[in-house]
Amino acid sequence: MSNKKSAPMKYLVMITLAIVILLVAIVVLTNKSQDKDEILENHPSTANQPLIGEENASVSVVEFGDFKCPACKAWGESVYPQLKEDFIDTGKANFSYINTEFHGKESTLGALAAESILKNDPDSYWDFHKELFKEQPGDNHDAQWITVEKLVEVAQKTTDVHIDQFSQDIEQQTFMEEVNTDSSLVEDFNIQKTPTIIINGTMLEDPYDYERIKSLIEEGQE
Ligand code: CA
Repeated sequence: MSNKKSAPMKYLVMITLAIVILLVAIVVLTNKSQDKDEILENHPSTANQPLIGEENASVSVVEFGDFKCPACKAWGESVYPQLKEDFIDTGKANFSYINTEFHGKESTLGALAAESILKNDPDSYWDFHKELFKEQPGDNHDAQWITVEKLVEVAQKTTDVHIDQFSQDIEQQTFMEEVNTDSSLVEDFNIQKTPTIIINGTMLEDPYDYERIKSLIEEGQE
């Protein structure tokens, strides 16, 4: 008796389950991050931007980043080293970094300092860049930490710039024009979050998806 009564119930449960599985499958498939990547009309110009790797590499990877941004620090420490080893050091791709000022005055100070290093001691640029991200506090990153004193400390450690000149460049905003060039790119490319990674004109939905980064760079070799 009880079996007969519950039979329709069993069908209902099975049908409901099938629908749920189908919906989950649709959500999972349509959420694949590569489907959300944006194919841009242009790739950002890397003229006058820091560039590491072969200048003529067939793939250009561009990061829109901010020294004040914790996700950029995380990307630089988790994804970038592999990217460098696999593709930059092997000449398959080069990498550029464009300043994005999403965190106010400190972002601007970091950007001004980085532009000064790029101009006055370009060979030390990436050491300075890496060390400045390293100095970003892991816990309370909202606390003010990008100061002229901190920038001087990092520059002394990683570069050969003349420190008085360097402080003056930051305080007098000597390289504001370069910082503004970067801001224009941020606007032109409608950058909404940092880090934003663009590989030969494809803007990644998920900058941490290394398999996707790999496949885009490999596509670019063909
Ligand atoms: Ca720049």
